Amino acid sequence: MNKIAIVGCGNVGVTYAYSLITTGANIDELVLIDINKEKAEAEALDLCHAINFAPRNIKIYAGDYSDLDNASIVCVCAGKNRQIQQSRDELLFDNFEIIKDIVYKINKTKFNGIYLIASNPLDAMTYAVKRLSNLPENRVIGSGTTLDSNRLNYLISKKLNVNPKDIHGYVIGEHGQSAFVSWDDILIGCNKINDFLSNEEMLQIEQEVRDSATQIIKGKGYTNFGVASCLLQITNAIVNNTNEILTVSVYDSSYDICYSKPCIVNREGANKNIDIDLTEQDYLQLNKTFNKLKNTKNLIFKN
Ligand code: NAD
Repeated sequence: MNKIAIVGCGNVGVTYAYSLITTGANIDELVLIDINKEKAEAEALDLCHAINFAPRNIKIYAGDYSDLDNASIVCVCAGKNRQIQQSRDELLFDNFEIIKDIVYKINKTKFNGIYLIASNPLDAMTYAVKRLSNLPENRVIGSGTTLDSNRLNYLISKKLNVNPKDIHGYVIGEHGQSAFVSWDDILIGCNKINDFLSNEEMLQIEQEVRDSATQIIKGKGYTNFGVASCLLQITNAIVNNTNEILTVSVYDSSYDICYSKPCIVNREGANKNIDIDLTEQDYLQLNKTFNKLKNTKNLIFKN
């Protein structure tokens, strides 16, 4: 039996819930938890009214942390979202308090599944969950740069008029401003990207990927569909044991941080043993990201 718990039933959490239901994801039970219990109850009831149209029957209800005992995945979507003019990093202290509250409560349960984190700043919050939960590193997964990688592949597909499924491009580092594209690793079908795009076009696309969220927040105040689809993609890889390669955020003991890189995702969680062929320039960029993520971590964990 696959049971998913969502903690944080705001824009992201509820859109993820709706996508699980309407796509007929391989799950049997969906429990919604929020500090605002009335909201969780209302969202659960509303989602129950969509189940008649769904490809499979799923038990949906608002619950509490004791419902996590036999859950396969807990997806953490709780936390403040950024306003226009605000960076994800500015959410650090507020969202760390929220993550602490949630993980302390989950630590008191018999939860023995996989954490999937969406809260920002993403890589720092994934690290916080890993450290506070003390679970094995494969079982704490941040949505990482899956959203950025999907945005990248969408933009390349639009430019080249090729199906995004035939584009294998990865954004690496952090889900934030220091994220970068590993251009040398991108394949369009079986061709290198340099056969199709100039350096200038690549830089333009990379900047557009970084600016995407701001553009959306400017228009509607938050982002939900893209991230929820990535959470769905990661969930499917776990519950269907697909061994899909996704740029999730995972713990790295050499640097004692979580960062986003291509990993194999399956029933066991994330396996990060995938070599990436980085250029000298990519390594410089990755080092900058490591330093940034280490500094961020030191702001919330003093020792
Ligand atoms: P939202 O304000 O709509 O929802 C947040 C929900 O969390 C609210 O319902 C709130 O009641 C709940 N909450 C707050 N504190 C809680 C606690 N201690 N325990 C349980 N629930 C609690 O926000 P949103 O737009 O859904 O965004 C949620 C998070 O996802 C934000 O941190 C946002 O930055 C992040 N996000 C991440 C990505 C990504 O790619 N990873 C993309 C978009 C948004």
